[in-house]
Formats: sequence, structure tokens, C-alpha cells
Amino acid sequence: MKILIVEDETSIARFVQLELEHEGYQTESVADGRQALDKAVQNDYDLIVLDVMLPSLNGIEVLRRLRQVKQTPVIILTARDQIMDKVAGLDLGANDYMTKPFAIEELLARIRANVKKRSEPEKSTLSLGKLKVDVEAHVVSYGSDAIDLTKKEFDLLVYLLSNRNVVISREQALDAVWGFDFYGNTNVVDVYIRYLRSKIDDAYGVTVIQTVRGAGYVIRD
Ligand code: CA
Repeated sequence: MKILIVEDETSIARFVQLELEHEGYQTESVADGRQALDKAVQNDYDLIVLDVMLPSLNGIEVLRRLRQVKQTPVIILTARDQIMDKVAGLDLGANDYMTKPFAIEELLARIRANVKKRSEPEKSTLSLGKLKVDVEAHVVSYGSDAIDLTKKEFDLLVYLLSNRNVVISREQALDAVWGFDFYGNTNVVDVYIRYLRSKIDDAYGVTVIQTVRGAGYVIRD
């Protein structure tokens, strides 16, 4: 597994690089947008961690040009107040994003999730214990019972199950399930989590969806 780190703040770049190497990834690091694009086009990385604020060519532009030629998974790093970067990045085909400052464990979890998504063909069946989701057929069951979910409930469950062990913020769930052109409140996510819990957790006396206080929701193995 080879990861390209694109970040001009050397302390962050070095730290991320050391952590990734510690996890067994091969890494390369580059601090300039134009060089990053050249490297990303010439080499086949398993994933690219791409900062947005970069010298010579910003990360959004690097991503835009890269996507014209290849689909290497990209996680963009954005500053907390740069919401437009996040929107533009996802719009241009970034696979995920992290807001700075971030916990390294969170970045590692997202890297694992995004690298895995690509290396394994998309599974059409997701399961967790007795809970089974046939993604293509849109059928959810618990043991031998069929569970009737609405489209959004289904999409939210599939999103959480596909990102197993990764804490999903309300904002991320909103982007993934409702789309980032959705102008509603993030409370809608809580409402749908409640629907899912009443149909699955409450109905079968299990805890499938966990709340992580102040962070979001997660389905763990
Ligand atoms: Ca930067």
C-alpha cells in the first residue's frame, strides 16, 4: 500500500508520514501542488492525502486535474472555516475529507476505509450479526424477519455499515445520504437514526448504532 501525502506544513506532513509508516504503509511526501499532481499522475498510489492550501497549485485544482485522468482515492484536508473547499472537493470526486486539526486515529480510520473500498469489489451484502443488508436488492433483514426501511433510512444504514468502526459525524452523514446541496439542519440525521433504532435496535433488543457524544454515530463490529 503506497500513500502520497501532500502537505506543505512540514510538521504535519512529517507526523502523518511517521504514523502511516508505523502502520505499515509506504509513503511519499510532497509539499507543492504542481509536484503533487505530477507524482499522482505518473504513479499509482493506493490513496492520496491532499491538503487544500498549497503553494503553486491548490489542492482543489490538483484534485480537479487528477480526476480527469484517474480515480485514485483522495482524502482532502481542509481548514475548519473553509467549508467551500469541502464542498468543492467532494463535488470534484474527493472520497473523503478531514477538517484540521484532526486526530491521527481518525485519519488512519478513514484511510483504511477508503483503501479497502477500492481493493475489495463493492460487496452487495453487508451484515452485522443477524442484520443483513442486500444492497442491490434493497432488502434488509434481521434473522428471518424482513425490515421495512424507507429510502433514506436504507441509505443511512448502508453508509454506516460500509464505514464500520469509523465515527460518522452528522455533517458527513448529511453529505453522503442527503447530498451537500441539502439545506436542512443536521438534526435530520438524528431523526433518521431514531427511526433506524426503533426498527432495528428497539425491535430486537440490540445496540447496532452507537452514539459517540459530541462526534456522531458509529456501527462497530
Ligand atoms: Ca497547507
